[in-house]
Amino acid sequence: MARIGEVCQVLDELWPPSWAEEWDNIGLLVGDRQGTVHRCFCALDADGPVIAAAIAAGAELVISHHPLPFRPIRSVTEDSPTGAALLLAGREQVSLFACHTNLDVAPTGVSFHLAKALGVEPEPGRPTMLRVTGRDPLYKLIVFVPAGHEDSVLRAMADAGAGHVGNYSHCSFAAPGTGTFRPLAGAHPFIGQVGSLERQSELRLEVIVPAAARRKVVAALLAAHPYEEVAYDLIHLENDGEARGYGFVGTLPRSVRLSSFATRVARRLESPATRFVGDPERSIHRVAVVGGAGVDFVDDALARGADVLVTADVRYHEARGTEAKGLCLVDAGHQATEAVVIPAMAAELREALHRAQLEVEVLVADPRADVWHVPRLREP
Ligand SMILES: [Zn+2]
Repeated sequence: MARIGEVCQVLDELWPPSWAEEWDNIGLLVGDRQGTVHRCFCALDADGPVIAAAIAAGAELVISHHPLPFRPIRSVTEDSPTGAALLLAGREQVSLFACHTNLDVAPTGVSFHLAKALGVEPEPGRPTMLRVTGRDPLYKLIVFVPAGHEDSVLRAMADAGAGHVGNYSHCSFAAPGTGTFRPLAGAHPFIGQVGSLERQSELRLEVIVPAAARRKVVAALLAAHPYEEVAYDLIHLENDGEARGYGFVGTLPRSVRLSSFATRVARRLESPATRFVGDPERSIHRVAVVGGAGVDFVDDALARGADVLVTADVRYHEARGTEAKGLCLVDAGHQATEAVVIPAMAAELREALHRAQLEVEVLVADPRADVWHVPRLREP
């Protein structure tokens, strides 16, 4: 059991609200942070049927990719599907939380999982993000630790998110030196006596800390450090932090014809309404993907040398324009290109709740049939 507010804090640390677009509506949209939660329910949409399924599953918090409400509303009544869904959530005390564009741009967000589902692999030495929208500022944390305590302090800081460089964790630098201090009246020194000047062998321990994790890291440092008063410096750096942004670009292990690739997309995403634009015989090697409506990324995909862009919600003239530019398109539907992230989001949340020692079960909504049906051309 946890407070809704505690789970919101874990969610905000995984997918910081500052990553979301200005026009977006994310975070806790319905509910009481003081309320209790035993079970979360992760889903692509938050609408009446999903909220009803969450209630049936005994969940008190729905975490969705598409926000409810999304656009500003003037009234909350049973007269509209949005109003009815919000009233249902309120009546049954189900809170609603949305991770939308802040999940889209996450390094392991929607497009990352879409690419993984399609077997698109990163290219060594080339960035995978199709359009970078920002980078998290970095900080350097320097702390002075008495010799013998450096490992426990480093582990606590690293577990809280410090010392990550690319594919390496627990990165630090330690240099020996001497610290001095004189405990004054009222002090309870870990080492030394009140009133006498102490000289102590210490290590200067340095780690990198991403901005989003800095409060948590400092709290972990203070909890793990043996001294009553901890000397540390937190310094803002000019170095670029980890990139976040839209899309994923990579390659297939083996080139395939466009028509076979489109069939693979349809099969892996279980999206029979998948359509494609381009010469069916064209060889496909480099693939760009953008989950959801991503036709605005055609030029980014071309600039990165992609043969095809896998996305959704492409309109006729956009398809014609993309064909004229020489880029193939696979439109696999909005739902199918985004639903892949929901089980992954649930898994990340489960791990983070466990790290935060919050006992909350995380359920994943049953995959819904696509809102689009495909007619049979020949009746049986
Ligand atoms: Zn979407």
